[in-house]
Amino acid sequence: MNEAQPSLVIVGNGMVAGRFLDEVRARDGQPYRITVIGAEPHGSYNRIMLSSVLAKDTTVPAIVQKDHAWYAEHGIEFVSGSAVVAIDRQKQEVETACGQRIYYDELVLATGSRAARIPARNLDLQHIFLFRTIADTHGMMDAAASASSVLVVGGGLLGLEAAYGLAKFGAKVTLVHRSPWLLNRQLDRDAAAMLQNVMSGMGIEFKLSDEVDHFHGESKVEGVTLKSGDTLAIDMAVIATGIKPNAELGIDAGLLGQRAIAVDDFMQTSDPRISAIGECIEHDGQTFGLVDPLWRQAETLAARLVKAERLPFRNQAIATKLKVSGVQVFSAGEVQTREGLRELCLRDDAAHIYRKLLLEDQRIVGIVLFGDVRSGNWYFELMQQQVDVGPLLPTLIYGQEYCPEAA
Ligand SMILES: Cc1cc2nc3c(=O)[nH]c(=O)nc-3n(C[C@H](O)[C@H](O)[C@H](O)COP(=O)(O)OP(=O)(O)OC[C@H]3O[C@@H](n4cnc5c(N)ncnc54)[C@H](O)[C@@H]3O)c2cc1C
Repeated sequence: MNEAQPSLVIVGNGMVAGRFLDEVRARDGQPYRITVIGAEPHGSYNRIMLSSVLAKDTTVPAIVQKDHAWYAEHGIEFVSGSAVVAIDRQKQEVETACGQRIYYDELVLATGSRAARIPARNLDLQHIFLFRTIADTHGMMDAAASASSVLVVGGGLLGLEAAYGLAKFGAKVTLVHRSPWLLNRQLDRDAAAMLQNVMSGMGIEFKLSDEVDHFHGESKVEGVTLKSGDTLAIDMAVIATGIKPNAELGIDAGLLGQRAIAVDDFMQTSDPRISAIGECIEHDGQTFGLVDPLWRQAETLAARLVKAERLPFRNQAIATKLKVSGVQVFSAGEVQTREGLRELCLRDDAAHIYRKLLLEDQRIVGIVLFGDVRSGNWYFELMQQQVDVGPLLPTLIYGQEYCPEAA
């Protein structure tokens, strides 16, 4: 480590921080002395795969992308298991929970987000889990090993993946979801009904248009009462209803932002010495919950800090998929049919296949696929590139292989 080099301090050691380090290194050399400070004890790991760890399809060691040795080998100082509690912008220092003060020339906030809590009483009983970290996943797996009845709260991607994983432990799983259908941001009612059907076949029960009113139990959760008045005996619950940006560190230091830390197109906050990337930021009023845009943020920031290049970040449509084995979901853009849109739809109830494309002026603006998602990426490209699909209309809904002239 060269003491004469300017110092770059990264707070947070999650997915975007890991990617940012790769982007810095890919830009040929390290013009900075780099220090990474992470609240979790691990090196950067693939958080996405925690669902697969829970479903016992992979293990924690297999998802760690940068272990402690990696930082040492690359001359990066890694302070692990220690949260930064304050930023002193005058002195250009951060302070950790252990009282260590670290000077920065450039500071990058990559503190991510945390699982949102729900406004239900007795949320602090034992065996009620949030689903975000390796520690949460270990806790859930330990509890699930002896649980016979589990409640999952939230029918979004994360809740469904949690329900699937927990069902594999042999427990009876009930999923409660506030909206009238599952994945209501990604699917329409018809596709969601098929999804519910398939997941019911895995032994998961669903309670839709309902919410938790309160949990009961002495020290450990023993039951739940829903707003509908239904009461269930449970010995474990998982809350997966959304996320909240970890923005307080930046906001308390006086950085601008409403729901998260505000950044410009180059990932710079309202303090020119401080940048921010990942789920802790807001850009053009938008916050983030999937990794695709985060990769481009990491690239934009590395280009600016390492090469002084101006590569503006632009938010783009992204496609979502569900990580439940045997269940294929692909969704992008608009989901609900509305006036002014043309709908192409193909549905086969017996085969559990549903395909809907929404078009505006002969251009794809929405894709909902269930059961057979083979043409998903192709439709997505057509959507992103705003291709005039007029000439493909007679066969477009059947998929790429039926539109050879466009393949
Ligand atoms: C189970 C699960 C499945 C997911 N599946 C998908 C998927 O299939 N596809 C997809 O695109 N996305 C998925 N996501 C979302 C994806 O993981 C996030 O978008 C991504 O991890 C965000 O990266 P980040 O670096 O901003 O935040 P994080 O990965 O959360 O990292 C932030 C890190 O900062 C640390 N930190 C916070 N505050 C401080 C502090 N003050 N000091 C030091 N360290 C701090 C945190 O402990 C954490 O380690 C999933 C998430 C979960 C939980």
